[in-house]
Amino acid sequence: MIARVTLEIALRKEFDYSVPEELAAEVVIGTRVKVPFGPRLVTGVVTDLPESSTHTNLKPIASVLGVRGLITPRVLALARWIATYYCCPVEVALKSVLPDAVRKEDAGWRERLHVSLIPQPTGLPKLTQRQHDIWKILEEWREMSLQDLLRIGETTSETIRRLQEKGLLRIAPRIDERDPYGREQILPTQPLVLNSEQAKALAAIVSATDERFVAGHGASLEPVSDVTDPQLPAKRKGPANPGTLLLHGVTGSGKTEVYLQALAHCLGRGQGGIVLVPEISLTPQTVERFKARFNTGPHATLVAVLHSHLSSGERHDEWHKIRQGRARIVIGARSAIFAPVDRLGLIIVDEEHEHSYKQEEAPRYHARDVAVVRGMQEDAVVVLGSATPSMESYYNARSRKYTLLEMPSRVTDLKMPVVRIVDLREESRRAKGGVPAIFSQPLKEAITQRLERSEQTILFLNRRGYSTSLQCSKCGYVAGCPNCSVGLTFHRQAQKLMCHICGHEEVVPSKCPAPECGNPAIRFSGLGTEKVEDVLRKLFPRARVARMDRDTLKRKDDYRRILSDFRTGKLDILVGTQMIAKGLHFPNVTLVGVLYADLSLHVPDFRAGERTFQLLTQVSGRAGRGDVEGEVFIQSFTPFHPAIQYARRHDFLGFYDQEIEFREQLKYPPAARVALLTLKGRNEDKVKFTVGYLRKELEKRLSGWRDLIIAGPAPAPLLRAEGFYRHQIMLRTRVMSRLAGVLTDIQTTVALPEDLTLTVDVDPVNLV
Ligand code: ADP
Ligand code: ZN
Repeated sequence: MIARVTLEIALRKEFDYSVPEELAAEVVIGTRVKVPFGPRLVTGVVTDLPESSTHTNLKPIASVLGVRGLITPRVLALARWIATYYCCPVEVALKSVLPDAVRKEDAGWRERLHVSLIPQPTGLPKLTQRQHDIWKILEEWREMSLQDLLRIGETTSETIRRLQEKGLLRIAPRIDERDPYGREQILPTQPLVLNSEQAKALAAIVSATDERFVAGHGASLEPVSDVTDPQLPAKRKGPANPGTLLLHGVTGSGKTEVYLQALAHCLGRGQGGIVLVPEISLTPQTVERFKARFNTGPHATLVAVLHSHLSSGERHDEWHKIRQGRARIVIGARSAIFAPVDRLGLIIVDEEHEHSYKQEEAPRYHARDVAVVRGMQEDAVVVLGSATPSMESYYNARSRKYTLLEMPSRVTDLKMPVVRIVDLREESRRAKGGVPAIFSQPLKEAITQRLERSEQTILFLNRRGYSTSLQCSKCGYVAGCPNCSVGLTFHRQAQKLMCHICGHEEVVPSKCPAPECGNPAIRFSGLGTEKVEDVLRKLFPRARVARMDRDTLKRKDDYRRILSDFRTGKLDILVGTQMIAKGLHFPNVTLVGVLYADLSLHVPDFRAGERTFQLLTQVSGRAGRGDVEGEVFIQSFTPFHPAIQYARRHDFLGFYDQEIEFREQLKYPPAARVALLTLKGRNEDKVKFTVGYLRKELEKRLSGWRDLIIAGPAPAPLLRAEGFYRHQIMLRTRVMSRLAGVLTDIQTTVALPEDLTLTVDVDPVNLV
């Protein structure tokens, strides 16, 4: 028997080994093994069991690690697709498909000593009062952990040992499963009666799952190549029934209820489901809604949760609950797309436009696109949901690659909020000194009104810190980061200047540090959330205010605590960065203020307009989710920018139509695919020289290609980050699968100086 093995030390190659007789039963595709490699033993994953090998004298596998087949053949197929499409070695892709806690097995199951009672039909021997009390507790509980017994019985281990000696109780280790949400009280919910839009969407999803369920008999594991390429029809065997649906539903249209009922349908016939949510640790409400529906009821199953804020032990246990088939519904962030759910019926990608679905280190996969591919491979239906779909997904829906489902109105009779734009140019004309106040007059009045009516307000500014720059008005000096090409931000509470790229910190100078200047009147300018909070407290001294950004959330429970205070009415105003922009559902919030909408427009990225439109729509969607109609104020210096105007009118289609024109003209996604090559190193001249050489190598391999634009080399918009200079080449093509082959070839054959690193990012979302 022969096993083909990918080694964890990245070599971009697979190696054949013989399988010793005594290990044969344990070696299947997906098993992790130790194998000899040169003088050492290294770890790898069995990726194939070929009939024969072109090599002779195969070395035997040394040992098997952990349980059999941690990686299922289906997940392995997915990893292979990722390696090919995103131009990375299979071993790197494989690292992402198992959580570290499972791969390294350092967490393991937690065993705890449990105490159980041994019944005494003939009566109790003589006991002390204390021993008798413990016996009474055990009689009631039958069995409990030793720890709990010590605590509840307010006793010592000595007493318990005495009882054990008398043969009255048994102490034995037992697996004690961790439950990250164990402390929460979750009340079961019943399916709601859907409105007609929801019912139509649900029917479409259910009928797609029905079709796939039939088609799924005899589904092949044929890897699909590049299914997300907009110009190519899905390459798969058999008829292409549309398996991906885009659910475009405005904020508050009741998408989650549709997901819940579609999942129930799948559970009903034995299929499982995966629900991806961006930044799940920030939305405990979502997890609760799924647990509340599926913990009990006719299709009761465990709901497993996977995200990076769990302890590694919790992650280990959650993952194994899925692998053992006890948890049939998985909710998680990006990497939950690899959850080993057997008989997968439905994958839901909520807020599909979110950039956090893209992994910013190798393998640089986009979980939404991986979901679409996994759906194809496993005959599962994929539902992409959003109030503001990405240009890519809507484009696919328009070209009928995806089925479009629309829910254009809010549930029951809720109206969309009224959005008012405040022209900051007008405000600065009126202001003394030409600098507009942080809160314009109309916004200030609106906040006052909410405080009087005991309604709540959310204020949004996408920049943390107090002031964004420290500048000398005499010589023009600006405090910058020594490692990155950005300015330092002043954090007042910490009394420090900080870099938001690399974390560098400095003390605040009392005078201009420029030699020969020394001006003591060095000034802070620009605005961050910390200052907003400060000014707010001065303007509205009686308002109860909390701020939520990365600076205030130091501990794991901070987020939950602040949100729970907000929900229970202990706070009037919540100030925050984009982490408060989405997903939150607070019926008493009737006012949303966006303090400076232009911030995200000034990013050097072709998606700046799209991002701004999405952010404004999402944050506006927090207003008016209860009985009282919502109102939104957007303060901006460019009030007529299309992203702002279309957001004001809740007009996604209008935005899409004008934006797609620009993308098509300039051949940007979704009209083309992008691959971004970034070369970085500490010596800028060396980086510059080598990136030029790379361009020539690319041209050599791509000569004669018609469908291709090569832009650059050029300095990255953020030239220097964490001490490294970065230069980029951007490639654009309609068919990425062809280009991916060339890029993999470049990475494996072009020798680069050792102190330079090349990264290849296929379908990048971050160009900076
Ligand atoms: P979305 O995810 O589209 O923003 P949600 O699913 O959060 O919307 O729904 C908003 C609110 O409406 C939730 O409180 C939800 O319980 C409620 N809701 C959803 N569907 C219905 C329905 N059919 N009838 C009554 N209430 C509903
Ligand atoms: Zn820095």
